[in-house]
Formats: sequence, structure tokens, C-alpha cells
Amino acid sequence: MAQYIVGNWKMNGTKAEAEALAFTLAAKAKDVSGPLPHVVLCPSYPYLVPVLKILEGSTLESGAQDCSPEANGAFTGDVSVSQLSNIGCTYVIVGHSERRHHHLEPNALIRQKAEAVIRGKLKPIICIGETEEEYRAGKCFSVLSEKLEACLPSSCVHSDILIAYEPVWAIGTGLTPSLEEVEKVMSFLKERLRTHIPEGDLVPTLYGGSVNAANARLFLTLPYVDGLLVGGASLRADDFWHIIMATERQEP
Ligand code: PEP
Repeated sequence: MAQYIVGNWKMNGTKAEAEALAFTLAAKAKDVSGPLPHVVLCPSYPYLVPVLKILEGSTLESGAQDCSPEANGAFTGDVSVSQLSNIGCTYVIVGHSERRHHHLEPNALIRQKAEAVIRGKLKPIICIGETEEEYRAGKCFSVLSEKLEACLPSSCVHSDILIAYEPVWAIGTGLTPSLEEVEKVMSFLKERLRTHIPEGDLVPTLYGGSVNAANARLFLTLPYVDGLLVGGASLRADDFWHIIMATERQEP
């Protein structure tokens, strides 16, 4: 199965910084003769076009951090999938816990967004994860099952989507679940995906939450971890490159 390393730059940096980061990563990627994982850079909206320009001719791709579920029209401040497709984006993160928390996005809306992304022929990276309270209450698996079912686009096929497991309490905190816990969750997600989608275990499942240059390889060695969604460490070219290279030994 192909591997994915996704960098979520969130609402950080200047245009010059975004360009420099994209330029450095694209240059490093050009020097690699062997296969690379899918590398997806997700800058904030204003920097998508300049970053995409730098990525031209590179194997690196670009994604948005969110989108509107609507096709077009009077939705001030929103960005549609067709607009993202029009500038050359190939992925869209939907349901990130920061959108769920700060913008009160419910599962039903996330599902609509994911469906809009698929209709627009882009790939949604659908994020699900449990809060610290849910984790402590031992509700991780039931919460994930519920969120997965509620966010999965109707009648999608396994090649339409990616799922990112991001424990909310691990995002930006330096805390991570144990490797055993991640393995159990990822195995559970593959099993749930199989029940909802034909050959659902082929849906790429990513881990996200305080991934860094030191721990990336540990997560990537786990069965059922097909890639990583990286926040803070994706803003540092050397660290993010190290994470990309941590996939290396997994390639055939
Ligand atoms: C994220 O925002 O998706 C994320 C995983 O952040 P961090 O790597 O900083 O925990």
C-alpha cells in the first residue's frame, strides 16, 4: 500500500516562509532517485497558489485544510472544492479537530464536505479522534466507530478517501498514545472500514498527533499505519524531511 505524509501548516507563517518551505522540500525530493511516499503540503488558503507554483514538476502535492460543502454561490468567506481543484489542489483535510472545536463542525457537515470533495474528484483526508475525556473514560473505540460511520461519504469506494486517526489530546501537545494503542486503533479502523466499504481495509489510514522526527519511524513500522498527518513538525523543513524519509525502508 502507498504511504502518505501530510503536512498541515495550519494558520502559520508568511508567504515567503511558505514558499521557502515548499522550495526546500521540492528540492530535496528532486534529489531522491528512489520512490517517495505521497507527500501532501497543506498551507493556508492564501499560500496555496504560490506553493503550487513551486511544486510544479515535483512529485509533491498540495491540499487544502478545509472546504465548503457547497458548490458555489453566496457563502462569504468559504472556498469551494471546484475552486481548489481549479488551482491544482489534490487533497482536502476535512473534520480536523480544530474545525470541530473552534467552528463546532458536526459529523454530518464533515460528511457533506467529504462528499463534495469526492464529487470534485479530489481526495478527502477525513479526521477522526477521541477527546482526552473520552480516552480517559475508555470510550475511544466507540467514539471512533461512531465518528467514522457518521463521517463516511455515502457509496464511496476505498480509493476515494483517506482516514486520519488523530487523538484530540495528542494534537500539538507532545503527548502520544502508546504504539500498542495506535496499533489497536488502526487495526480496529481497518476492520470498521471493511464493514462499510468493499475492500475497506485498502483505505489508507494515517496517524496524527505530535509526530516528530524522532517518533515518525516508530509509528510507520506499525501494521495498518499507512502514513502520518503532521502539524507542528511539518513547518520545519529538516524535521518534515526526516519524517518523509522515515517511510523509506517500508518501500518495496
Ligand atoms: C494536526 O494538527 O493535525 C497535528 C497532528 O498536529 P501536531 O503534529 O502538531 O500534533
